[in-house]
Amino acid sequence: MIVILKKEAAAKDIDSFVDGIKQRGLGVHISKGVDKTIIGLLGDTSKLSPEDFLANDIVESAERVSAPYKMASRSFHPENTVVTIGANQEGVIPCVIGDGKSLPVIAGPCSVETEEQILAAAQAVKKAGARILRGGAYKPRTSPYSFQGLGVEGIRLLEKAKKLTGLPVCTELMAISELENFENVDLIQVGARNFQNFDLLKELGKFHKPVLLKRGLSGTISELLMSAEYIMANGNENVILCERGIRTYDGYTRNCLDLSAVPYLHKVSHLPIVIDPSHACGIRWMVPVLSSAAAAAGADALEIEVHCCPEKAWSDASQQLPPSEFEKLMDKLAKYAAVEGRTL
Ligand code: PEP
Ligand code: MN
Repeated sequence: MIVILKKEAAAKDIDSFVDGIKQRGLGVHISKGVDKTIIGLLGDTSKLSPEDFLANDIVESAERVSAPYKMASRSFHPENTVVTIGANQEGVIPCVIGDGKSLPVIAGPCSVETEEQILAAAQAVKKAGARILRGGAYKPRTSPYSFQGLGVEGIRLLEKAKKLTGLPVCTELMAISELENFENVDLIQVGARNFQNFDLLKELGKFHKPVLLKRGLSGTISELLMSAEYIMANGNENVILCERGIRTYDGYTRNCLDLSAVPYLHKVSHLPIVIDPSHACGIRWMVPVLSSAAAAAGADALEIEVHCCPEKAWSDASQQLPPSEFEKLMDKLAKYAAVEGRTL
């Protein structure tokens, strides 16, 4: 249920209204916009009716939010959420996602392999204009015999790469037990395979770091938003959604990039949305054109895999771009972004 208050509602009346709701055992989420204040009621509102609130002079209207997610919903929070990554750190250039003016690119290798490899990739993506460095330290691999990631050593190498380039870093968390190693990670990725690991999501709700939440292999949009809700309802509103391709009946690409998710998610949610064309198609030559398409669809940012020597990569070799191709992609992407009045 959401309750919209009149523009002229006095602060003390708003406070006593909120107290009254809390006394009924419900939580509240307050969104103060330029024109109106919206109070979202959290908890079981099934016994309340919107009309009950209209008797209060400060209430303009009240309505049920039919979608099962609330905090992630646009009716709950009409203005876009803007997430800042890598703020307040000496030597680190913060990156803003969701401001509608920029189209930042998160780039780097699938996996952190060696110090030399990640430092070279970090410098290459920075030179091409990427704003956040990615690299997996904990890898969710289909086969237990494939490279599983360097673990905490990979995180230490990402920290070195951050120091060298000033780029904030993004890497995937697979288990709550590893969270203590993520203190210097700027954007925590929840991978497609973990997008409904509810215990992990709840813990990230309490960790107060921006989260990049990937859509599951066969996850619906509603399930993605419910997973975002888990993080938000536990106290962390810095959630960025990521469409990375879903399974369909056809296997000509690794997954099927659902670009309709971008305008749809923008309509129903205020959270920023990132497109990951690399995992979506799994084919190097297709990544540039899908990146341009993502820009046209209105994605807030892109996540692209880049490796200095893709054919020797320890994971996802077929989809990673060498720096030369990535530079070309970035030049072209800048032109597409400019059409929408955005910069990389
Ligand atoms: C990744 O980003 O390296 C990754 C494993 O992604 P996904 O969870 O989308 O497969
Ligand atoms: Mn990968």
